Amino acid sequence: MEEPARSSMARSTHLRRPYMKPLSILLEQAPPSRILNLMATCRLETRHRDFLWQQGPQEIRQALLRYAQDAELVHDGARKLLLEELPPEAEEAPAVPENPRHLKKKKAGPALRCIGVRGTSGREYRADAVLVATGGVSYPTTGSRGDGYKLARQAGHTLVEPVPSLVSLVSHDPDCKKMMGLALKNVTLTLFEDGKAIFDEQGEMLFTHFGISGPLTLSASSHLGDMKKHKYHAEIDLKPALSEEQLYDRITRDFALLANHAAQGALVKLLPSSMQPVMVERWGIDPATKANQITREQKRELVQLIKHWRVSIDARGDLAHAVITSGGVSVREVDPKTMQSKKALGLYFAGEVLDVDAYTGGYNLQIAFCTAQAFANNL
Ligand SMILES: Cc1cc2nc3c(=O)[nH]c(=O)nc-3n(C[C@H](O)[C@H](O)[C@H](O)COP(=O)(O)OP(=O)(O)OC[C@H]3O[C@@H](n4cnc5c(N)ncnc54)[C@H](O)[C@@H]3O)c2cc1C
Repeated sequence: MEEPARSSMARSTHLRRPYMKPLSILLEQAPPSRILNLMATCRLETRHRDFLWQQGPQEIRQALLRYAQDAELVHDGARKLLLEELPPEAEEAPAVPENPRHLKKKKAGPALRCIGVRGTSGREYRADAVLVATGGVSYPTTGSRGDGYKLARQAGHTLVEPVPSLVSLVSHDPDCKKMMGLALKNVTLTLFEDGKAIFDEQGEMLFTHFGISGPLTLSASSHLGDMKKHKYHAEIDLKPALSEEQLYDRITRDFALLANHAAQGALVKLLPSSMQPVMVERWGIDPATKANQITREQKRELVQLIKHWRVSIDARGDLAHAVITSGGVSVREVDPKTMQSKKALGLYFAGEVLDVDAYTGGYNLQIAFCTAQAFANNL
């Protein structure tokens, strides 16, 4: 029996079975070794990690082909969706006449069907299902340069503005540069938005020539909103295990022991060496002041500085070094069960191209795996 012409195909949201072959996996020309190196930096806690670390690109290719036996791996970037308009849905008369004063709003179904993609080479790949899994726009050395957003726009999708996330933060505070390279362990970083705490975690961080970095900073970065609308600053508690009173007593003991040391020397047991001169400067105390001359008030001021070391947050780090992209294809326009577009039948999205992101620790990879699996379950 002859297949019906596509344009007159029923408006089914399901794929025709059996799945049309061959399946084409379009890949950008990024050297697989680079991808492997990046995977090795990921903290993915699954048994697949060893596989990804130890096996070469050939093995990865074979693994892909094992799951999609008739797949053709093509090095040809997807550039354009092949879309055709769907005929308008025939309106059925409601079984019970509607109250004209309270007419129900009709949900508009997809107006388009995706029937394939055109590659950079100009070659067209026809398919029942097109999965856009092109990643975000951060770390472009992985091959992800935001192509997925362009494809999504062609089908009329809304984009939540893609911004770098899990990224170092830029601070114009000159103290950061003075302490660049200093890594702090077991400190608490609190991020404030317009004076309100929005993130608070204990861990490791780092001062750099441009601001702050390290695991705590990366996690904090994913809580930033619109930096044009809000003011942000971070406070670092350098001694989170001690209350303000305990820290005051500890400082008093230290200063008694180091009685004849000048202010900076009096901090030797308390702070890392590269931070000591910066602390003295911020403290505003005369550097020649001996430890046994430091007043109660000055000790209280020191406690405040140690418990609330303030760093202004002026910008996110650049996209090129962001671990992930936050934002992307609006999830309101994608069916979460199948990952099918609500704008175009046969078009699917998975992974970082979507407006879904999380902390490091394997969660972003998990998002990519789960959304791809949801798509595959429907094939
Ligand atoms: C340095 C680094 C460390 C990371 N560490 C972690 C971690 O510890 N834990 C964690 O959960 N996540 C981590 N991530 C994030 C995680 O790697 C991504 O969230 C995940 O890989 C996203 O998967 P994806 O398949 O959606 O996109 P990607 O992995 O970005 O893959 C997209 C692919 O699509 C290809 N492509 C792009 N455009 C086209 C096109 N037009 N046509 C055809 N192909 C195209 C690209 O070349 C790329 O191969 C890390 C990322 C980086 C960069």
